[in-house]
Amino acid sequence: MSVSTMPVEAGLIKRPMFAEVVANRPLTPHLRRITLTGEELDRFAYEGPDQLARIFLAPAPGAELHLPHSEQWWPAVQAMPDEVRPIVRNYTVRRLDAARRELDIDFVLHGDGGPASAWAYTAAPGDRIGVLSDGAEYAPPVDTDWQLLVGDETAMPAITAAVEALPPDARAIVLLEVGSAEHEIEVRTPVGVTLTWLHRDGAPAGGSDVVIRTLRELALPAGTPYAFVAGESTMVTTVRRHLCTDRGIAKDRVYFCGYWKHTAH
Ligand SMILES: Cc1cc2nc3c(=O)[nH]c(=O)nc-3n(C[C@H](O)[C@H](O)[C@H](O)COP(=O)(O)OP(=O)(O)OC[C@H]3O[C@@H](n4cnc5c(N)ncnc54)[C@H](O)[C@@H]3O)c2cc1C
Repeated sequence: MSVSTMPVEAGLIKRPMFAEVVANRPLTPHLRRITLTGEELDRFAYEGPDQLARIFLAPAPGAELHLPHSEQWWPAVQAMPDEVRPIVRNYTVRRLDAARRELDIDFVLHGDGGPASAWAYTAAPGDRIGVLSDGAEYAPPVDTDWQLLVGDETAMPAITAAVEALPPDARAIVLLEVGSAEHEIEVRTPVGVTLTWLHRDGAPAGGSDVVIRTLRELALPAGTPYAFVAGESTMVTTVRRHLCTDRGIAKDRVYFCGYWKHTAH
């Protein structure tokens, strides 16, 4: 995945750092907000609403967590022996309070045996994790007239943070795919923002075409758009193709990223 090249202020840290769980609270039946604290979190580089946090977990539940101490963290992780090499996954910083050295990450509990989801299910105050600031991509150009933000539960942290940061006169259409009404969360939206929750209604995550069906029927505003599309890979590429091929939106006005890949069980 590409990452932003926005300059990072001197003194901010772009290598893995230790943090520990302060709180773990349910936002919906399948979404947990985990608050972390750490001595170095006041220097965690934050570049935008979809700020990528690589997380590092111990190789097995209860095992000690070892972190590479270098900005060249990936080769360092690869060089670690199997028994200590941490598990690395990608998440979004939902909120950073540098002064309080606190960071929130919202974890989808997808119950598919993934180590990060399993960790989030049981994480308790004092549990250790590693976090790394690794760039942000959401970047509407200055000539943007309106935005289209599309995602599933995994992109809710990025999209809701982006919506909350919009200026009061911004115009945006937001489509968020969730399992059903009980998986919706509260989002503060400026007046020019229309947020529509799309329900899979019994289909599994990654197994519904509700997003593309809705989008095909949607009247898009005139003017120059910027689209941010993130979530399950097939949904994301289908939406991008529709926007660029069927709607004639220029490719460079559409940021898209597969946050996870649905695999048939
Ligand atoms: C830039 C970026 C930001 C992201 N931000 C977030 C975030 O803030 N919150 C968040 O929850 N996720 C986020 N994700 C997605 C997250 O990285 C993946 O869901 C990841 O696979 C979870 O790791 P895991 O160890 O739980 O499962 P894995 O070990 O990676 O996968 C195990 C199995 O679970 C399935 N699976 C993985 N994720 C899901 C899912 N969401 N629903 C259903 N099945 C799934 C896989 O298909 C696989 O079969 C982000 C991804 C990217 C690239």
